[in-house]
Amino acid sequence: LFISFEGPEGAGKTTVLHKIAARLKEQGRAVTMTREPGGIPIAEKIREVILDANHQEMDGKTEALLYAAARRQHLVEKVLPALEEGSIVLCDRFIDSSLAYQGFARGLGMDDVLAINLFAIEDHMPDCTIFFDVPPEVGLERIWKDTEREQNRLDLEELEFHKRVYKGYQEVITRAEGRIQVVDAQKSELQVVENVWEIVNSEVNL
Ligand code: C5P
Ligand code: MG
Repeated sequence: LFISFEGPEGAGKTTVLHKIAARLKEQGRAVTMTREPGGIPIAEKIREVILDANHQEMDGKTEALLYAAARRQHLVEKVLPALEEGSIVLCDRFIDSSLAYQGFARGLGMDDVLAINLFAIEDHMPDCTIFFDVPPEVGLERIWKDTEREQNRLDLEELEFHKRVYKGYQEVITRAEGRIQVVDAQKSELQVVENVWEIVNSEVNL
């Protein structure tokens, strides 16, 4: 079972993912927690290149290709072997991030970004995707308050960019035909964990 967590900045994906993984482990299930871009050394290096605050001049297509390259390596090196062993894989971001950020917000076009990503992942789409729904203003407010968070190149983007990301995700959800389940991420952390848990549980018991 392959589940991806998606949403804008400050939606709470990472925090909730850790709590859901802990609950699954309590049930005695094998769980693999991972993230994109990253999750394995090669992809973490690509992440550093993409997100380096000094790389403001990076071309949009270069960025999209680097995300797809990191995704490919992470998929073949970590996600697929874990699934093969029967582990539940919880992944912080996957293909939908590229569609929303590079395809829509950066204006590269969702179809082109989908095409390079399908080259990268072939038919390995997540079984289920959870979208953490939080308006960009609220998400940004949360990350600005988080003093432990590492800064990245995206922090220099205007609110307008993050609004486009949000709109992009709405478009992605419409196109996903039911693969993506939406959770209200403005609720309390506990409530969000409960809502995500319900979804994950029903997927596990399918
Ligand atoms: O989710 P996380 O905070 O680890 O993501 C790192 C950064 O990469 C975020 O600022 C996110 O917006 C950005 N990102 C992006 N395009 C993607 C995936 C992530 O701009 N396809
Ligand atoms: Mg996070």
